[in-house]
Amino acid sequence: AVTSTVPAPATVPGPAPAPGGEPGLLVLKVGGSLLSDKRHSGQTDHEAIGAYASEVAELLKAHPGRIVLVTGGGALCHPVGLRIKAAQDDPYAAVALTEPAFHMRWAWTTALRARGVRAVPLQTTSMLNELPDGTAVTETGVVSRLLAEGALPVLSSDCVVTAAGALRILSSDDVPGVVLDAAVAPGPVRVVALTDVAGIHLTRDPESPVLPYLDPDDVTAVRRLFWDDAWDATGAMEGKVEALAAHARRGAECVITRGDNGPGGLRHLFAPLDAWPADVPRTLIRRRTPA
Ligand code: ATP
Repeated sequence: AVTSTVPAPATVPGPAPAPGGEPGLLVLKVGGSLLSDKRHSGQTDHEAIGAYASEVAELLKAHPGRIVLVTGGGALCHPVGLRIKAAQDDPYAAVALTEPAFHMRWAWTTALRARGVRAVPLQTTSMLNELPDGTAVTETGVVSRLLAEGALPVLSSDCVVTAAGALRILSSDDVPGVVLDAAVAPGPVRVVALTDVAGIHLTRDPESPVLPYLDPDDVTAVRRLFWDDAWDATGAMEGKVEALAAHARRGAECVITRGDNGPGGLRHLFAPLDAWPADVPRTLIRRRTPA
């Protein structure tokens, strides 16, 4: 993930937590590693998108207007991201991300609409304005409106205007930060990043236990746990943790967990964290006393 250098907007006050710790808004980020083969074939897995779309449709039926979907870019966006990073003399190179990112949003939108969901793809480029004075302004009225109508906003990585007037990539792990204050129901914002690992593993062994909890003010403590994934355009786990810790410092409760957890699917994602199935490992990133 590309981490923002712009100071985050003020802490999101958010409505009072709902009884039992149910989130008011679930920002569900489905990692590109679950939707395509980033390392080898480069193919987008439309069957996987269809399967996740079915689960999201079920979840939305039970919690209308309380989900924002963020799609990872996967193999479609990865090579474009590398080319953008290489084009250092072109301050608008990041505009090239628009096309593959839209393909991903459209793949989800068609899959979701086929399952009866009012899915609407939105461009994050139009929602985040990094001003020359270093502050950032978000415009999420349309997200809140769609939520109020029971619809599902579909976002993805995008390019955004920087304080210096250039364009930069906003990675899909950073995108939840743009909609943290768009909730229309009371309760905290929960950001769930589904990926191909169960959380931050304690060793390189993918079967090893995961770190159950990370203090978002103390990310340095876990840097030594990140594997060296030089091939990845968005910094893999390190970028994800930096991005989620930033959301958590603004009051969100953030969870990294596997997307393919088996029979229970995504049903537990609105449940209080202590009611999640015991066999679903995850890393929670949240301030001890939520802001
Ligand atoms: P995308 O960012 O394209 O949406 P994603 O969110 O599914 O994809 P990655 O950004 O690739 O996933 O991050 C997950 C990857 O992080 C894992 O597949 C693994 O290779 C890498 N990783 C690095 N260090 C660790 C660690 N300590 N524990 C778990 N995974 C790690």
